[in-house]
Amino acid sequence: MLKGKTALITGASRGIGKGIAEVFAKNGANIAFTFASSVDKARAFESELTAQYGVKVKGYQSDASDFKAAHELADQVVVDFGTIDILINNAGITRDSLIMRMSEEQWDDVININLKSAFNLIKACMKTFLKNRSGSIINMSSVIGINGNAGQANYAASKAGMIGLTKSVAKELGSRNVRCNALAPGFIQTEMTSTLDENVMKNWIESIPLKRGGTTTDVANACLFLASDMSTYITGQTINICGGMVM
Ligand code: NAP
Repeated sequence: MLKGKTALITGASRGIGKGIAEVFAKNGANIAFTFASSVDKARAFESELTAQYGVKVKGYQSDASDFKAAHELADQVVVDFGTIDILINNAGITRDSLIMRMSEEQWDDVININLKSAFNLIKACMKTFLKNRSGSIINMSSVIGINGNAGQANYAASKAGMIGLTKSVAKELGSRNVRCNALAPGFIQTEMTSTLDENVMKNWIESIPLKRGGTTTDVANACLFLASDMSTYITGQTINICGGMVM
């Protein structure tokens, strides 16, 4: 479904980003991906994907929250791969705390890594998309950005911001055939959620109509649809991937 396309995926050394890279490579895409500090994991993943699917894969250590670094990254990806067709703004962190105890640093880190990063990379890739008169941008939001959550005000604000950003970019770039959509995963089993208390996890799963946590492949498959030509008339939308948790 993505044969010959180049995808830039932020935060793909593990978790959902890694799952997206695997599904995209399986579907013929060349993969440029970023990570923050997992150098060994990223290098191993590079060789693994290339060997398994025969596509071009390169990992870049690049802080998505750094405006200048995002521009250098996008330029380097164009040098290495020739173009960028798909941008997945997936990199994200949590720094959970009730607002009463939340530090300015916890707030700023989450907003910068989860939300400013998407602005940085959309701006950095825009030149290429406009030149190509084509592009698909996918922003990773969360059901927490739709519903809010006690103890996650910074995270919820960053993820709600992703939805507003997505709709605005869709309106700004639609006339140039550049699409922008958001995914809002619910409870997906990755390192990010592995630190949750067992009872919290049990209660969450109990409240999900499909009675299970999501997998990274569940998210990656929706991403594949939005990145591919199967969704050429879809832009500005948010798809919840949450087993029916949010309706
Ligand atoms: P994860 O397992 O913690 O992985 C996070 C990824 O982001 C890693 O590859 C990490 O690189 C990278 N990263 C962190 N900070 C970065 C930075 N400043 N610049 C570039 N890359 C950075 O997280 P996940 O669960 O896969 O979540 C991925 C996305 O989905 C996030 O945006 C998250 O908010 C969203 N999401 C997750 C869930 C869930 O249930 N898991 C639900 C809804 C939404 P290193 O390995 O180098 O640290």
